[in-house]
Amino acid sequence: MLSRSALARVSRNAALRSRALSSRASAILSALDIPTNQEVPGVYDGTWGGTGDILESVCPTTGEVLARVQSASPQELQTALDKTREAYEIIRSVPAPRRGELLRQIREALAAKRDELGALVSLEMGKIRTEGIGEVQEFVDIADYAVGLSRMMNGRVVASERPGHSILEIPNPLGVVGVLSAFNFPVAVYGWNLALSLAAGNATIWKPSNTTPLCSVAVTKIIANVLESNGLPGAVAGLVTGGRDVGEAVVESSSVDMVSFTGSENVGRQVGKVVQARFGKVLLELGGNNAAIVMPDADLELAVPAVFFGAVGTAGQRCTSTRRLYLHRSIAPEFLSRLQALYASLRPGDPLESSTLLGPVHSRAAVGIYSSAVNRLRNAGAEILCGGSAFSETDLVGELQGGNFVRPTIAVPKSVDVKDEIWKTETFAPILTVGVFDKLEEAIAWNNGVPQGLSSSLWTRDVRNVGKWIGPAGSDCGIVNVNVGTSGAEIGAAFGGNKSTGWGRESGGDAWKQYVRWSACTVNFSDEAPLAQGVNFTPTA
Ligand code: NAD
Repeated sequence: MLSRSALARVSRNAALRSRALSSRASAILSALDIPTNQEVPGVYDGTWGGTGDILESVCPTTGEVLARVQSASPQELQTALDKTREAYEIIRSVPAPRRGELLRQIREALAAKRDELGALVSLEMGKIRTEGIGEVQEFVDIADYAVGLSRMMNGRVVASERPGHSILEIPNPLGVVGVLSAFNFPVAVYGWNLALSLAAGNATIWKPSNTTPLCSVAVTKIIANVLESNGLPGAVAGLVTGGRDVGEAVVESSSVDMVSFTGSENVGRQVGKVVQARFGKVLLELGGNNAAIVMPDADLELAVPAVFFGAVGTAGQRCTSTRRLYLHRSIAPEFLSRLQALYASLRPGDPLESSTLLGPVHSRAAVGIYSSAVNRLRNAGAEILCGGSAFSETDLVGELQGGNFVRPTIAVPKSVDVKDEIWKTETFAPILTVGVFDKLEEAIAWNNGVPQGLSSSLWTRDVRNVGKWIGPAGSDCGIVNVNVGTSGAEIGAAFGGNKSTGWGRESGGDAWKQYVRWSACTVNFSDEAPLAQGVNFTPTA
């Protein structure tokens, strides 16, 4: 006799079978080995399972339910955490270059499915296909980087003041790394973390966004195949899908040595406090409120399209999206008229179609956030140059009528007051707020005057401006670009932001150093045991 929950599952699966998934969706899911006629297990710790709440994956473009994903119950989460710890005890003893070889195989397996995974990102998150594929390419790139790193994660030998002594600084694996990721980069953010964490000898447990579970299942399947075919426990790269409760449990667990959290400032603030209170390690990658500054000598042929991509790309849902535009008075009218012409060319479309530049925002909630921000601007007397409303069902055709489409908006508030909500809040939608300045120093002060400090961009050909911008009195962000837009970073440099963006660094640069446990190790190979600083502790007779 079936239990009540098993009965419920059988009837849900029957309902799913009777609902025909669109061919648009089923082709993409099938290519990635995701079942289309039953619930999808969303927990992996060496075996697949999931008996917790059901997460619905909804296509932002059409509103179609793509799948129902079985998330982790509290008991399954605990088991996954235990297995991750056991897996850590195995992977930490695998030599680092061997871990590099695993990463090489992961890189190959991801590259072989790059287009399919990119299409899934587009289907489930809503970004246009070229950006979806680019996101998977980012995982491929960081895996390449980590292969090399696996032979270069070096410590140091430090000169000792004592004869016959050596001091070593040794990086050892850290333990279990919990990765909590945001909806807008459902593949790449995990990639940055997994690649460095595995190269460093850690086991990783991933809690993805509850609205992009299918991307996490597809990626985990690819990685699990590599681990299993190498005779390693799958829990080296485990997965626990779920909502806020699962996220909180990972963050609170003392068996998670480091929590790498990517998401909003509000949730990041709570996560930071909880991990700090238990003296765990925390890496925070939070919101951005990024500005581009355009000087009179800027090449507008380059600057205008870059601002267009920065503000509208990913429908304004990148942490590095351009949200504030500061124009020098002398070029402001010309710049805005060219930018408005580009905005006028935008049409909402299916992000899977190659001609589409404007896909949907990710959720119904995001449409609401967009609309309230536009209303706030209007109420404050801002001039709305274009956009200013969501698309209604009647504005859209066919399947798109079920989608979350909004009009990219350019607004010019009455003045620039960076303490005002209009300027200081990250609105995760395609809204660009414009201010006009006379002196570079004024624009830099506006750039720096908000709580966030992720990305920033200056457009100029004058080397004196460049010096100011990248120097001590320049931009206070983690990303300080010149003649390059605010979004679209490469993996080679450390990625992250300052102030309320959380100070975290991921990907390239020295980011790997956070994923290890550093030991300062003084070795005495002499016949004496002198104390440091010449301290004498010999008892007098
Ligand atoms: P979010 O903060 O709502 O969610 C992030 C993750 O935290 C999700 O996995 C979510 O399920 C989980 N979560 C929610 N509440 C939790 C809690 N109380 N405890 C533990 N986990 C919890 O963010 P989002 O809406 O998915 O993503 C958008 C935000 O992410 C934006 O602010 C964006 O700027 C930011 N982001 C930052 C970067 C960066 O590198 N700085 C990159 C991508 C996105």
